[in-house]
Amino acid sequence: MNLPDLNCAKKRTKEEIKIIYNDYSVPESMKNIGKNKKYFVKTYGCQMNVHDSENICAILEDLGYTESAEMEDADIIILNTCAIRENAHNKMFGFLGRVKHLKESKDIICGICGCMAQEENVVEQLKTKYKWVDIVFGTHNIHKLPYILESALENKRQEIEVYSIEGDIYENVPVRRDSKYKAWVNIMLGCDKFCTYCIVPYTRGKQRSRLPEDIINEVKDLVRDGYLEVTLLGQNVNAYGKDLNINYTMANLLEDVAKTGIQRVRFVTSHPWDFNDEMIDVIAKYPNIMPYIHLPLQSGSDRILKLMGRRYTKEEYLALFNKIKEKINNVAITTDIIVAFPGETEEDFKDTLDVVDTCKFDSAFTFIYSPREGTPAAKMENKLTEDEKNKRLYELNEHVNKYANEANQKYLDKIVPVLLEGPSDKEGFLMGYTDTMKLVNVECDEKYLGKIVNVKITSIKTWSMDAKIVD
Ligand code: SAM
Ligand code: SF4
Repeated sequence: MNLPDLNCAKKRTKEEIKIIYNDYSVPESMKNIGKNKKYFVKTYGCQMNVHDSENICAILEDLGYTESAEMEDADIIILNTCAIRENAHNKMFGFLGRVKHLKESKDIICGICGCMAQEENVVEQLKTKYKWVDIVFGTHNIHKLPYILESALENKRQEIEVYSIEGDIYENVPVRRDSKYKAWVNIMLGCDKFCTYCIVPYTRGKQRSRLPEDIINEVKDLVRDGYLEVTLLGQNVNAYGKDLNINYTMANLLEDVAKTGIQRVRFVTSHPWDFNDEMIDVIAKYPNIMPYIHLPLQSGSDRILKLMGRRYTKEEYLALFNKIKEKINNVAITTDIIVAFPGETEEDFKDTLDVVDTCKFDSAFTFIYSPREGTPAAKMENKLTEDEKNKRLYELNEHVNKYANEANQKYLDKIVPVLLEGPSDKEGFLMGYTDTMKLVNVECDEKYLGKIVNVKITSIKTWSMDAKIVD
């Protein structure tokens, strides 16, 4: 048994990051363990978790399991969890209740992994109150799933294998991609920014960049397999390469990925702090790097930004925002904003609204600050009532939605490229995204599936648009 330890999780040493190419295997005894059985993986949280689940699904398929669309039909259920806010906790424990109910009537294996599994208090709860959960593993050892499962089955007891380490890089872990047309590609893992509200540096270890050649080869393979779009993933993609000491930056990587010939390149998430001019120039230069940037603001108040440890000011954010808008043709910029951070005054909140009114973001993810145990902000006093927090979120959303709607309205009657990636909820339509990441439902034949087509926007809805194919 290996339990998480928050104090170890926040340590950062100079120890070299190991890149391990051959640590994944399936023990002989496990090769057909899932024959005629089904798996169900439930994913919470960010794109990183979605991609981790693609690894988990591939590993389960290596064990012989096949995917089940319904949890009720599954023989093994894995919950890949998120720790970013309290409500993610509540959702996971709520779902666990349903799994328990199922387990009472059927012999199933239940596993918990992801960021919540890296939290001491969660694992303590699983160890004492949820003994029926069979396996718990963390973000550092997904590739060891066959062995963790083997051990749980052999010993017939709860197996907890969570490591609070800085972390290494494991290459060649199998992946079963959700889409045939667009793919997630990790370029870096972990985070060293330690924003005072955020649990990620504790749950995902230190910032470690994959080698450029490993990333480029993965993208080249995807191009060969017919993929049209890649999204380069990391908590701070702009800081890519800083830990490699090979004088190779995110701008270099973006350029090399663009040169592979993949039709669309995206990347998330950009921290304003590391967004440099070279990056902007490369994005502006290559038409296959999409004009879409997610640039989290978090707060518009310099005082709160400082308390958050974000290392930029409102003015610096606005200067960067304007530079991106000026240099990248037709760019869409979205953001993340937290309200009711400890000590946020009405004036601080107004500063945030002011930046929103100035930037008129294409859209924004907005959150009420949620204290995360072990982070510095969790110890800061927060005098706001729940009512005040909700009011701020509501007011912020009014502003955000107004500008999102205005940005969408500009698309009416325009001709834009869309990658048609799947069926739409509307019959006779396929869905996809514009280069600027707008969701579009296109009235067309199935034969357009998996193609980038020019469409004419015919109507604007709140969160999507309708369109028709143009010749
Ligand atoms: N690395 C990204 C960055 O620096 O902007 C963010 C990654 S985080 C998974 C996604 C978003 O969750 C953050 O941008 C932030 O707005 C929000 N978030 C993180 N911790 C939070 C907390 N304790 N309470 C509320 N929102 C939080
Ligand atoms: Fe969290 Fe800040 Fe790292 Fe983003 S940059 S993952 S918000 S610590």
